[in-house]
Amino acid sequence: MGDIERLGIFGGTFNPIHVGHLIAAENVRDRLGLDMVLFIPANIPPHKSVDVAPSKDRLEMVRLATKDNPLFGISDIELRRDEKSYTIDTLWEIKSQTDAELFFIIGSEAFMQIHTWRAPEQIFTMTNFIVMERPGRIVGAGDFEDYLRELETRLPFVIYRGCEKLDEISIFTLESEKMESKIYLTPVIHIDISSTMIRKYIREGKSIKYLVPKEVESYIKEKGLYR
Ligand code: ATP
Repeated sequence: MGDIERLGIFGGTFNPIHVGHLIAAENVRDRLGLDMVLFIPANIPPHKSVDVAPSKDRLEMVRLATKDNPLFGISDIELRRDEKSYTIDTLWEIKSQTDAELFFIIGSEAFMQIHTWRAPEQIFTMTNFIVMERPGRIVGAGDFEDYLRELETRLPFVIYRGCEKLDEISIFTLESEKMESKIYLTPVIHIDISSTMIRKYIREGKSIKYLVPKEVESYIKEKGLYR
C-alpha cells in the first residue's frame, strides 16, 4: 500500500457481497477522492453465525467481486482473529501497515451509535469517517449535527468544532486529544438490496442475477451456499 495517501475502509459481513456494496463503495471512493477502498469482512463468532457463510467463502466472494477494480482491495485482518473484532483493534493493525490517511466508511444509523463502541475517543484520533446518507433521506445534516453536539457531552475529550459544506457533502470537524477528525456526511448511490434479501431469494429459488456479480453467483451455486 506504498503510494496510497487516502485509504477508505469498508467493513461489513458481506454475507454475501452484492452490487449495492460495490456501487456505494465506488461512488464514495470517487466523491471523496480515495486512492483505494479496502473491503474488510467481519468475523462472526460461531454462536451468532446462523445463516452466515463460512469466513473463507465470504472472503472469496469479496475477492471475486472486487478483483476487476484496481482501486478496490481486500483484507482478512478481522477473519484472522478468533472473535468478533473491535474497530479500534482493526484500526491499530491497519495503522501499523500504512501511513495513509484513513477514512472509515459507514452508514449513518451505525455512525450514530458510535458512543457505544469500544474506545470511541481513540478511534477519532486514528481515522476520519465517511458517513453514507441515502439521497433524499431526512436524517440530514441537522440531526447529524445534534448527534455530534451530544457526543461532546458523552465523550469528555471530544470537542465539536463545526460544519462546512462542500457541494453535497457536509464536513464536520471533531477535535480529540489535539487531533482532528473529519466526518464527511455524503449522499451515495443506494440500490435498494441487502444481503438478507439475497439469502431469502436463494432459499426461495428466485433469481439473483445482476444482484451479485456473475462470479459470485456461480460461486454461491457451486458451493450450495444459503440453501
Ligand atoms: P444484511 O442484510 O445481512 O444485514 P447488508 O446488505 O446490509 O447485510 P453488510 O455487510 O451488513 O450488508 O453491509 C456492509 C456495509 O454496506 C454497511 O455499511 C451498509 O450500510 C452498507 N450497505 C449495505 N447494503 C447497501 C446498499 N444496498 N447500498 C449502499 N450501502 C449498503
